[in-house]
Amino acid sequence: MAKSAQRFSPLYAIVPVVLAAALVLGGYGFRYAAALAEKSESSLVDSNRLLGTQTIDRIDNVIIDSDRSLFDLVDVEHLSDFAKRWEYIVHVSPAIEAAILVDEHEQLIPGGYVSKKKGAEAAAFQALFKRKILPDLPLDNLPIDQHRHWQKEYDGQDHLISFIKKQHGSSIYYVVLKVSLEYVRRNLLPEILDPLAGKVLFCVRDGRGRIVYGDPVGWPGKFLFEKAFPTTLYLWRLQMAPPSAARLASEEHVRRRSEFLLITMMLGTILAGIGFLFYATWKESRANEMKSDFISNVSHELKTPLSLIRMFGELLALGKLKTPEKGKEYAEIITREAERLSRLIDNVLDFARIERGRVAYDFEMGRLDLVVERALDVYRHRVEREGFRLTTKIDEQLPPTLLDENAMTLLLLNLLENAVKYGKGEIAVYLTQEGNMLRLVVGDQGPGIPLHEHKRIFERFYRTRDARGTSVRGAGIGLSLVKHIAEAHGGTVTVDSELGKGAAFIVDIPLVGAREAA
Ligand code: ADP
Repeated sequence: MAKSAQRFSPLYAIVPVVLAAALVLGGYGFRYAAALAEKSESSLVDSNRLLGTQTIDRIDNVIIDSDRSLFDLVDVEHLSDFAKRWEYIVHVSPAIEAAILVDEHEQLIPGGYVSKKKGAEAAAFQALFKRKILPDLPLDNLPIDQHRHWQKEYDGQDHLISFIKKQHGSSIYYVVLKVSLEYVRRNLLPEILDPLAGKVLFCVRDGRGRIVYGDPVGWPGKFLFEKAFPTTLYLWRLQMAPPSAARLASEEHVRRRSEFLLITMMLGTILAGIGFLFYATWKESRANEMKSDFISNVSHELKTPLSLIRMFGELLALGKLKTPEKGKEYAEIITREAERLSRLIDNVLDFARIERGRVAYDFEMGRLDLVVERALDVYRHRVEREGFRLTTKIDEQLPPTLLDENAMTLLLLNLLENAVKYGKGEIAVYLTQEGNMLRLVVGDQGPGIPLHEHKRIFERFYRTRDARGTSVRGAGIGLSLVKHIAEAHGGTVTVDSELGKGAAFIVDIPLVGAREAA
């Protein structure tokens, strides 16, 4: 039958629209949820940042102010008193470890070094200052009375230096203080940071990441505030985070993941729905195509024997017979075509019952060899009349098994009918016992069946491309009936065939013991 022209389904136009809408919706939903969560989180991030900046400023300012107040004590008019005055200042000021007076040529002024430390320790720092620290200090271009800080690691230790430029007449002096980092760590940081304990997590780390004060803040993700001290403790940095940061960060991670999953699932469901819709439409159109092929095949199959019966019946009725043998021949043709008609109708009726799920098998203990022999007795005549040689090999004394004799006869007749329709030369029927199975094989020397169609030929209404192209008639239901019957008996049907090398249909039926049957 000519294939109906492929009609354009509105489904194809809707799919991209549905897909685009789903993508836009999914993307919007994801972004909206993310924006909402970001809004509530960003206020927490902002307040944490504000508190962090304020704390850094406070620490910086306390250091600057205390140094400034010390520098205000410098009396450049009485520099000769430097050692005496600063001895006292350094001694009473817990934040200062040493004071040094440097001239405008950046040389230590004799008697211009006082230290809280005594003896060798004091001398060691003086040497370090001369050798390494003083050359490093950015004294050039420092405005008069301006006060600066310098923090650097020397010989594996952090040093914080505070210095100011002073003028007396035409002379320039620098007053340099070594600030005690121990004091900063033990007194200043606790004083400013401890009141925040419980409200935030905080920690001060040095240039190598080692904790100077506080406890590690964990992994707060974007809730972490981290900044170096901008004007004094250049090497150190403050880390601060809300106490719930770690939980919030992990919650955010989970939320993002579940949102992503949800949206992916939604898109997946929509895609699966569309896929299913396509599949269902394709299946239905294929079923419709097959059904209309089936109707036209069956009508064609009914038409041919009917016209032959009618033609030869009329000839007989008119009595226009040249010889009495002709009358016998016409009657035989009518009988053969009537047989063919009734087989076809039986097949269609059985098929319709199976399709509606109303088929009821009538199982009884019986001998398949007897069923096969009886069927062959009936069919042998037709096979030989069509010019075939029928070879049979039926094992004797095969054990009985549970079977529906009529259904098994129908199965064998369908296989024989196909062998006659498609084969040539010889048809072989074997029935043997293979272990706990009875094996029925119907083989022919026909055109064979290509491998890729071995499965499909058992589908209802399916006819191979080759069969469709020839004048061999068929409705495509015979093998689907064979498969149904074999499976109803707990068995299988397979085909062993290659193009051009004939075909053998193998039906395996299990042997069921008499006890089970009862
Ligand atoms: P049909 O009425 O077309 O014979 P069947 O269900 O009996 O329907 O067979 C399905 C298809 O399998 C046939 O159309 C034919 O293409 C193929 N087929 C079945 N038996 C044979 C065979 N013995 N040799 C070659 N092809 C066969």
